[in-house]
Amino acid sequence: MARVLTGIQSSGRPHLGNILGAIVPAIQLAKENQEESYIFIADFHSLTSSKDSELRKQNTLAVAAAWLAFGLDISKTVFYRQSRRPEVAELTWYLNCFTPFPMLANAHSFKDKSERLADVNAGLFTYPVLMAADILLYSADLVPVGKDQMQHLEMTRDIASTFNRIIGEDLLTIPEARISESVKTIPGTDGQKMSKSYNNYIDIFLPEKQLKKVVNTIVTDSTPLEEPKDPDTCNVYKLYSLIASETQTQEMRAKYQGGNYGYGHAKKEFFELILTKYAEERKAFDFYMSNPKEIEEKLAAGEEKARQVGEKLLNQVREKLGFR
Ligand code: ATP
Ligand code: MG
Repeated sequence: MARVLTGIQSSGRPHLGNILGAIVPAIQLAKENQEESYIFIADFHSLTSSKDSELRKQNTLAVAAAWLAFGLDISKTVFYRQSRRPEVAELTWYLNCFTPFPMLANAHSFKDKSERLADVNAGLFTYPVLMAADILLYSADLVPVGKDQMQHLEMTRDIASTFNRIIGEDLLTIPEARISESVKTIPGTDGQKMSKSYNNYIDIFLPEKQLKKVVNTIVTDSTPLEEPKDPDTCNVYKLYSLIASETQTQEMRAKYQGGNYGYGHAKKEFFELILTKYAEERKAFDFYMSNPKEIEEKLAAGEEKARQVGEKLLNQVREKLGFR
């Protein structure tokens, strides 16, 4: 039995990368698992990139609605907003004091984000410590994440081991990452990692017209319509193959190699596949977005359960550090 925990930031609308990298694998793991899973919306984290509180509230609802639309079962899951359990901020402070500065300075995600984002704040820098606190507060064993989070998970393990060694007790559980090999890092419309904060993402819950527009922005090269194309260097093909069946993928591959098949055709097929494959989820998402009370009730129940578990661990940490 293992406790599964994972989170998604409310820094934008949930996207295909979040769905394939985190939501689908976490829901699958939760189903197989006897123990309750912990699934949360990382709204504290999203403050590193977004200062618009109204928008963050909307995005928090959208992330919650996405989890529910994909079948999160609250009878087997502790489902909560990170900010409603402020114990995590206190634990973050303690862990900060057990985290070597150079480890954070070497984080890929920080380097990448600090090059791309205008606002490079200290929160962005210490993000991996808050993430460690998210995981360690609830003694999680397994953390399903996308490949982009692998290094952060390693840091969590390091921080927890250092802490345990210094206090002389195995109080913090060392978690394991669970990375879906078939998914890895999903590219965005510009070919870089799909990210909410880079605005290069495909939000599968958009109304049809808008979704079509976004799919059309996927960057391709300028090979003329008549000529054969290399599927392996094309983003549209990559994205399509992530959600298509084996047969559908082979068929599109043959069309690329045959010529007289343009990127516009491939985009249309990708768009149509999103609509059919995710028809149920799109409907459920709209239902939750127009009934935010349903979401609120589910979260409130999870937040109470999370409090009981988190406070217990935090009290043990306070005790060990001489703050109780
Ligand atoms: P932000 O840009 O604010 O960092 P994000 O789009 O990277 O947002 P996160 O909330 O940071 O999303 O990540 C939530 C989960 O989704 C994590 O498990 C992460 O590994 C996964 N994930 C995010 N982007 C991708 C992607 N492009 N491919 C696969 N998994 C992803
Ligand atoms: Mg991210």
